[in-house]
Amino acid sequence: MTLSKFHEIARALREYQRFAVLSHVRPDGDALGSQLAMGLALRELGKDVAIWNEDGMLQKYAFIPRAELLSKPPSEPQDFDVILALDTAIQNRLGTAGEAARASKLCINISHHPSNPGYGDLVYIEPDAPATGQILFELIKSEGLPFNRDIAENLYVAISTDTGSFQYPNTTARTLEIAAELVRTGVNVGEVSQRLYENYPRRRIELLRELLGTMRFGADGKIASFSLSLDCAQRLGVLPEDNEGLIDHLRAISGVIVAVFFEELPEGKVRVSMRSKDEAADVCAICKQFGGGGHTLAAGARVKGTLREVEERVLRAVNDTIAAIP
Ligand code: AMP
Ligand code: MN
Ligand code: MN
Repeated sequence: MTLSKFHEIARALREYQRFAVLSHVRPDGDALGSQLAMGLALRELGKDVAIWNEDGMLQKYAFIPRAELLSKPPSEPQDFDVILALDTAIQNRLGTAGEAARASKLCINISHHPSNPGYGDLVYIEPDAPATGQILFELIKSEGLPFNRDIAENLYVAISTDTGSFQYPNTTARTLEIAAELVRTGVNVGEVSQRLYENYPRRRIELLRELLGTMRFGADGKIASFSLSLDCAQRLGVLPEDNEGLIDHLRAISGVIVAVFFEELPEGKVRVSMRSKDEAADVCAICKQFGGGGHTLAAGARVKGTLREVEERVLRAVNDTIAAIP
């Protein structure tokens, strides 16, 4: 099943000429690393490739090989043979990049989100894979697609960031074997890790200090949350990318099962980010109640309302889930 799907995808990659390689808004390392890895493999095949993300390349990932090839989409739509949607749970999370790319032949959807409804013509979703980057490694290797050091480093960034640096439970022996292969190809673990995890701007830690000031606990310490208001974000001058991973400080607290981060957005919405330490507390199911999705242990949603209203509604739903665990 996997192999025949991989054959079909590889056949399309070899057959067509014009590709748009896209991923989700507010991209993470898996999104950007996967886009560049796939874009570079396609370029090696001699294809015309656009690599677009609504947010463009983030400052914190600007070191990844060939980062300059990834850009914001143009305002006028363009035509391609194939759109590749990577690491994107639902189609509208492609944002303006999805609106700018029109596919005349195929839309290929590759991700690892169980909540992915399977949009597109050629779909490969592997919910057990810890990162889209891991799926792409398997695709490239099993189909003999181009592979080199730059592609390897992008895949390493994708897998390292989505596994919390090889810590989350979906990190399997296979994941570590793939990491070993990437290191053998020339990835320098110490250097990449330092750039990923020891190179934060000071304002990120100032933001953390503010967030900890809003920290709340519920359900006997099983739920922990903190919130970022627009006021605070403006005062500190933070970029959206600054808060990626800060929720891990809540998850890391002993006794906490579900961690929640609320971020007020300009358009009357709140971005909700959730993490769980227990499969029985399925945060994807909770986020789906609010129109979002993701994975059992890591999910998110964008919810209409004020910060206070959304906190109240969402924390009530988390409480109900925790209360239902035997
Ligand atoms: P985040 O908390 O933003 O790091 O997202 C955690 C996971 O939930 C990621 O795998 C996302 O793809 C997914 N996710 C986040 N926000 C949404 C959303 N609004 N709709 C669907 N899935 C989401
Ligand atoms: Mn992602
Ligand atoms: Mn991912």
